[in-house]
Amino acid sequence: MHICEFQNMIRRIYWHKDEARGVEKNFIHLVEEVGELGRAIIDGDPASIKSELADTLAWLATVANVLQVDLEEAALSKYCNICPKCGSSPCKCP
Ligand SMILES: [Zn+2]
Repeated sequence: MHICEFQNMIRRIYWHKDEARGVEKNFIHLVEEVGELGRAIIDGDPASIKSELADTLAWLATVANVLQVDLEEAALSKYCNICPKCGSSPCKCP
């Protein structure tokens, strides 16, 4: 599955709610999920880490949907096989 396919799947499932909620509230949900991911990492619970990573990705897709940003295009235009700062792979940044 491509990133765009995942983003489109999230749009199919949640667009009616995400659009009504608006970008700021969706962004707050994203930040909350990042916090929950941090807690799962601190707790060292592999199942929770996996679940929170999925939630974080889903809310990131939601924020991109509401902002009408193609997440795959954005990601690959910046991170296309090389580090965007040093232009190398692997990265040689200090
Ligand atoms: Zn680099």
